[in-house]
Amino acid sequence: MARILITSGPTREYLDPVRYLTNASSGRMGAALAQAALEQGHEVTVVSGPVTIAYPPQARLLRVVTTEEMLRACREVFPRCDGLIGAAAPCDYRTRRVCPDKIQKTGQPLLLELVETPDVVATLGQQKEHRWMVGFALETDDRRFRALTKMEQKSCDLMVLNGPEAMQAETNSVEVLDPSGRTVARLQGTKLHVARGLLEIIQQRLIARQ
Ligand code: C5P
Repeated sequence: MARILITSGPTREYLDPVRYLTNASSGRMGAALAQAALEQGHEVTVVSGPVTIAYPPQARLLRVVTTEEMLRACREVFPRCDGLIGAAAPCDYRTRRVCPDKIQKTGQPLLLELVETPDVVATLGQQKEHRWMVGFALETDDRRFRALTKMEQKSCDLMVLNGPEAMQAETNSVEVLDPSGRTVARLQGTKLHVARGLLEIIQQRLIARQ
């Protein structure tokens, strides 16, 4: 049995009290991973941004809104976990200043100054120690190269590469890469099917060797 932290869903970065930046993530892959991990007898904590889908009730669920909140929640939980699966699509930018009141239209272009939010997986990588980490990379071009670069930058032990077709979809088609650049597996089907395959790989390659 392993204690697994799963990040899931999008995060939101508000511009004013009603408008926000976000990513088109449904949280379905995270929910499927939580289900597959529970089926294997693991203890699961899900840190999720706002989603409409339901997570398995046996998983501990921490709801967050912003990327900074996701990072804060994960930093609390990660030290008590054996590994992390980063399936969330955290918003990479926020406005430098959130307007306390609704921004009014003026008929002129609105210029927003955006600053980067922290990278949750990369930051947790700094307190990784003996723990394993699996990241997701959703890429449109130069897929393999970008996924391998992210695996290194984010201290991941495996990277799950998928395309934009995965967003909001019921199914997924992924390639699992290891740090040497080898393709460990290709998995395709419902997100639950893909999640079960991925959990088997994590069990064999990461949990069993821990
Ligand atoms: O968005 P990107 O392609 O860089 O995401 C790759 C991995 O990094 C995913 O596992 C995602 O959950 C994670 N990530 C994160 N915090 C961010 C951006 C991405 O944890 N701000």
